[in-house]
Amino acid sequence: EKAIRLDKYLADMGKGTRTELKEMIRRGRITVNGVIVKKPETKIKKGEDTICLDNAPVEYVELEYYLLNKPQGVISATEDRRRETVVDLIDEKSRKDLFPVGRLDIDTEGLLLITNDGALAHRLLSPGHHVDKVYEARCEGFVPDEAVDKFREGMTLADGLSCMPAELEILERRAEDRKTGTAAESLVRLTLHEGKFHQVKRMMEETGCPVLHLKRLSMGPLKLDDALKTGEYRKLTDKERELLE
Ligand code: URA
Repeated sequence: EKAIRLDKYLADMGKGTRTELKEMIRRGRITVNGVIVKKPETKIKKGEDTICLDNAPVEYVELEYYLLNKPQGVISATEDRRRETVVDLIDEKSRKDLFPVGRLDIDTEGLLLITNDGALAHRLLSPGHHVDKVYEARCEGFVPDEAVDKFREGMTLADGLSCMPAELEILERRAEDRKTGTAAESLVRLTLHEGKFHQVKRMMEETGCPVLHLKRLSMGPLKLDDALKTGEYRKLTDKERELLE
């Protein structure tokens, strides 16, 4: 549908509730192509008519895409009464119907796509064409070489969950040092081809090396870039949007 009601146009752009907007319209705060319009049901042609609220243009944005470097402590949800959500972090958004594509645990950092493109989310998350996800994890203990084979073969967790083959790369390992009292620790990179609940944590637990810190580096063609610090976000580039199609 190209033409929509004026109050819906403004509500979609997060300018208020339908009730508030009807009142704002009646008070003459909105112009359509330079003319004050007092009927909330006025039909607006998106992308053609110029709408202003208190003389400031309100552009209609259909789809929005943000790449967030999720910090620890925020939840992967759209709204929460008590805690800050990943959607709350996007403060320049036009749309009020944004949601995260998939979830990261509250204590996981890294790449999260925030959008209102439901079709895209479906494409990225449906089991049939699940995109690869790459994580970096700092873990307790000295990850044994055999773990790489276990990942490659597809492991079955203690609770019976069977995992698809995945890649494990050992980036750094530090053995326990009794003299200085430092515990063994490892840094690994994992590539998963599915997304089960707490999957990385559960797989690392299975190898005897529980995760201390987890960060997602990529999801399909989307990669976290160094310019994006924890807690920061940016719009997807046109190139990135093409890669997702
Ligand atoms: N696996 C996990 O265990 N946690 C995440 O947040 C993502 C993948």
